[in-house]
Amino acid sequence: MRLPDAVSIREVGPRDGLQNEAPVPTEAKVRLLDALATTGVRRIEAVSFVHPKAIPQMADADQVWAAATRQPGIRYSALAPNSRGVTRALDAGFTEIEVVVSASDTHNRRNVNRSIDESLEDIARLIPAVHARGGSLEVIIATSFGCPYEGDVPVSRVVSIVDRVVAEGADRLAFGDTTGMATPRRVVELVEAVRSRHPDKPVLLHFHNTRGTALANILAAMQVGVTEFDASVGGLGGCPYAPGASGNVATEEVVHMLEDMGVSTGIDLEALIEVARLAEEIVGRPLPSGVLRAGPRTRTVAVDGV
Ligand code: ZN
Repeated sequence: MRLPDAVSIREVGPRDGLQNEAPVPTEAKVRLLDALATTGVRRIEAVSFVHPKAIPQMADADQVWAAATRQPGIRYSALAPNSRGVTRALDAGFTEIEVVVSASDTHNRRNVNRSIDESLEDIARLIPAVHARGGSLEVIIATSFGCPYEGDVPVSRVVSIVDRVVAEGADRLAFGDTTGMATPRRVVELVEAVRSRHPDKPVLLHFHNTRGTALANILAAMQVGVTEFDASVGGLGGCPYAPGASGNVATEEVVHMLEDMGVSTGIDLEALIEVARLAEEIVGRPLPSGVLRAGPRTRTVAVDGV
């Protein structure tokens, strides 16, 4: 098995996770951010600067960010859906900004009320604006592995979006499995297609565990050279199109598996499990993480039978 020595995990529970949960108080969001910062995680997607009417869960993004203890050595990022959001993120002091375009036109229209082309034109304007203020822009391509409205998304369509945003100066690429439709085969196909055209562009993968394939997808992605992944503590979040479905892959499940395989994450698993417990307390429901339920494989208990 070809595995990297280390991977870079970006914790997205405070943003993608909480965005798909019932709203929680500002103070709880700050508590979660600050707790995550003590686990050894080096990247955190902290907030999203969206219109409060569109996503009320993120209405207090400025207050959350102002109150959070920003740890040196951690790369914090913010998601912004449009130029107004990007300006808010830059004004708040973020230098790592993420914007989203969907590979499916129907999903893009439902998500941001625009066609893919309109979103790409907007991104083309935002890239120089972010660079002018010393920031970097990551383009997240949502529904890269399938769309809940359109079904399969051809690799060629994702690649054509990649070609365009790379030509316009996007600093990083992320591929979102927004509703958990990826399988290892699809991951390898897409990554190889992108890498063959843009070998030097940083690529991050974002898997939801909606159908239980997230860890398998991460394993497949590492074997074709990907070393950056999103994950959410406890598996916080859900799927807006499938009530009750799992959210992002749980960070502690990723850390647990990779560390045992000799792939360093830099994250303290026991500390992270404590934060997953805090996340459960904050959202007031059990979270889907198996490692949170069962504990790490090294935590043995005395048993009588077999
Ligand atoms: Zn997501």
